Amino acid sequence: MSTANEYQALNDTVISNGFCVGCGACAVPEESPFHMALNEYGQYQAVLPADRVFARTSFDIEKVCPFGSGSASEDQIGKDLFEEHCSYDSQVGYYQQAYAGYVTEGTFRERGSSGGMGTWILNELLAKGYVDHVINVRSDVGGSVDSNLLFGYTISSSLEETQSGGKSRYYPIELSRVLQKVRSTPGRYAVIGLPCFIKSVRLLQRQDPLLAERIRFCAGLVCGHLKSTRYADSLAWQMGIAPEKLESIDFRVKNPEAPANRYSTSVTSDDRHEVVPTNKLFGTDWGAGAFKYKACDFCDDVFAETADIVLGDAWLPDYVEDSQGTNIIVTRHPDIQEVIENARNEGRLVLDDITIAQAIQSQDAGLRHRKVAISYRLFREHRKGSWVPTKRVAPSKTLKPRYEQKRQRLRVDLRILSHNAFVTALKRNDFEAYLNSMLPVYREYKKHSSSLMKRSLLLFKRIVKKFVRVVPGVQR
Ligand SMILES: Cc1cc2nc3c(=O)[nH]c(=O)nc-3n(C[C@H](O)[C@H](O)[C@H](O)COP(=O)(O)OP(=O)(O)OC[C@H]3O[C@@H](n4cnc5c(N)ncnc54)[C@H](O)[C@@H]3O)c2cc1C
Ligand code: SF4
Ligand code: SF4
Repeated sequence: MSTANEYQALNDTVISNGFCVGCGACAVPEESPFHMALNEYGQYQAVLPADRVFARTSFDIEKVCPFGSGSASEDQIGKDLFEEHCSYDSQVGYYQQAYAGYVTEGTFRERGSSGGMGTWILNELLAKGYVDHVINVRSDVGGSVDSNLLFGYTISSSLEETQSGGKSRYYPIELSRVLQKVRSTPGRYAVIGLPCFIKSVRLLQRQDPLLAERIRFCAGLVCGHLKSTRYADSLAWQMGIAPEKLESIDFRVKNPEAPANRYSTSVTSDDRHEVVPTNKLFGTDWGAGAFKYKACDFCDDVFAETADIVLGDAWLPDYVEDSQGTNIIVTRHPDIQEVIENARNEGRLVLDDITIAQAIQSQDAGLRHRKVAISYRLFREHRKGSWVPTKRVAPSKTLKPRYEQKRQRLRVDLRILSHNAFVTALKRNDFEAYLNSMLPVYREYKKHSSSLMKRSLLLFKRIVKKFVRVVPGVQR
């Protein structure tokens, strides 16, 4: 049961301190006073109206928020759902089987970001009668609060609709409108989402029997972080299309001449279509984290630990050279496992069984940033006296190697600066204003990162030397 005090508590903790990822869960309950709105930085945020005359809801509102006080952790949710039939790993969460592979039937791989499994699994659940509808992100629906948005969550019920939701949208989306529709429209659903969004769905299901009954499967995406709308705007602007002219964007255009991680970005306006290799555009260094939500720096769920299946890119030497893209897949639900194995036996999927260590290796940088360095970022917030969400790890002022601390501080600086500098650039109608603010900090970040690499290499060499001294028979 939530009253004005609980609404205010969510507002004063998660939202006021910048930890709202804009998932929309708190705006789903019928009587909820929250609504979703886009802020000036191009991020969805939950908004509590100022009038303070609120109806009660039967939901404990802080417990539906992935960052809310008292909400169940990914470990608790995963344990309840998967413990009986899965093994557990601290990096990946619960798992049944891990694969690397792609879809061979239809145009799933061609039209997907990676191996096409994201769209395929939704379509397969639909085609085999496990669900009646899927909830995915499409470009033909707009956002729920702003029709100018380029992408939004919607309900799809045919292959064509499911497939038009293919590709990764590094763009804000929110679930409140579509989940309200699920509550009012009987049927069986599967939903795809980023780890924190799937956690929100699970938290809602813990309190809402209707959503628990109707949403039968949750598919997750491996997640580095989420971007504001300004990320898309900044790429388009560099390619000669001003933000207000941007009509569509494809963040993952495959390049047949290059490895899978050397993809391009394409943008269109009413009179222009441009395609540029993504690594030639400023702001696309994911480690630097331009336009990242603050919440993402305080999230340690990379492998969508509460989802029945999680899909990502197989960023592994054995697969990255294939320009068509290869998925990394971790399963947690017996029905999904069966659906995948059947399709594999019918030759519709090409899959290698991989170890959980390989799955972890495929997301090495993301896991180090999110599962290790999060303790140091928590410590810095604590030291300022700020409220922080309860995480599975404790704040820590030690981060090793020690010089990694500076890199973390520069990443935070870049995140904050990117949002502010782009708003200034928009006001001045001058992309250079954004670049001029970002470049000095980015250069320092790169300089520090490369000297950090050199130092790591030296450290590695020292360890090898020591090892050579103590292990007889090892040749230099
Ligand atoms: C913000 C973001 C960050 C990511 N970070 C990583 C990462 O660090 N490492 C990694 O390996 N993979 C990451 N991914 C996942 C990766 O980009 C691919 O989406 C994934 O490999 C699936 O590719 P596919 O070809 O199988 O899927 P496709 O067939 O292309 O289908 C993609 C599916 O995801 C849905 N979708 C797209 N964007 C969103 C969104 N924003 N929210 C919810 N659903 C969406 C689509 O509706 C579609 O159903 C990220 C994806 C997103 C959206
Ligand atoms: S539930 Fe989602 S939208 Fe609401 S405050 Fe939490 S993160 Fe923000
Ligand atoms: S990094 Fe975490 S909080 Fe950010 S979008 Fe991904 S799952 Fe959500």
